[in-house]
Amino acid sequence: MDAAWPTSLTRFAGVIGWPVSHSLSPAMHNAAFRALGLDWAYLAFPIEPRHVEEAVRGLFRAGCAGLNVTIPHKHAVLACCDEVTPAVEAIGAANTLVPLPDGRIRGDNTDAQGFLRALDEAAPVDLAGADVLMIGAGGAARAIAFALRGRGARLRVANRTPGKAGELGEAVPFTPEAIAAAAAGAVLVVNATSLGMGSDEVPADLPVAPLGPGTVAYDIVYRREPTPWLVAAAGQGARTVDGLGMLLHQGAAAFAQWTGADPPLGAMRAGLLAS
Ligand code: NAP
Repeated sequence: MDAAWPTSLTRFAGVIGWPVSHSLSPAMHNAAFRALGLDWAYLAFPIEPRHVEEAVRGLFRAGCAGLNVTIPHKHAVLACCDEVTPAVEAIGAANTLVPLPDGRIRGDNTDAQGFLRALDEAAPVDLAGADVLMIGAGGAARAIAFALRGRGARLRVANRTPGKAGELGEAVPFTPEAIAAAAAGAVLVVNATSLGMGSDEVPADLPVAPLGPGTVAYDIVYRREPTPWLVAAAGQGARTVDGLGMLLHQGAAAFAQWTGADPPLGAMRAGLLAS
């Protein structure tokens, strides 16, 4: 690294979360800045929930050129937004903050478009009028439900806490039998829970038996290797989509808004895989 870097001209962007040390976003965005020769740096800021609003305003006052927002701040940052996109209005959460030239802050949610772009890239499927099963109804699931509604899918949702499922689609009981039955008729089955993050076993609540060549299995959990559920689904002939693609494309959509440049997807993907 150049010993004289960063300089007084270096621009900065970053991610706020609590905790945030696990975030892969710095590796992805710094790889993008390097690939385009931009004198920018991307940092991770651990911000306690009680300090979110003053931290966001302070960072932008100090010249921050863009922020990503991760758990648990995606809803709280709405208090700092002077305008929000329709995606934020529908989802109720922002993962991207953009400083506007007049000093106002725009909130966006790029998770929905990240989800769809990764799907279109890895396993394109016509969702209009199609049955989709989503397992999970947390923050990411809200963005995915918005994305799937936009494509005209008929969404069924199974969630451990049942009341949240009915807010996003037709609720399916959170039992192995009901989940398997709903998966059997679906063209796309999405795991939007955190199940499978740190395990080498297929989680008992994720269906495998009904998946086959006519199904796309999409696991938004991101790991360097495919999750055990995706491996099992692929073994039965299903097409699969992993969470790294969604992470990449939500980041790329934020990058484009901050820099005005075309995101260098290859470099960003390599940055993610090297992190
Ligand atoms: P969240 O808001 O905390 O939601 C967690 C979801 O997982 C809820 O539906 C929760 O059910 C369910 N869940 C957690 N533990 C469970 C268990 N033991 N059994 C059954 N269900 C369980 O989190 P989130 O932001 O939606 O994130 C969910 C996952 O997606 C995480 O692994 C995250 O890393 C990943 N993610 C990936 C991307 C990407 O770009 N690939 C983007 C965002 C998130 P309850 O409602 O019953 O608690």
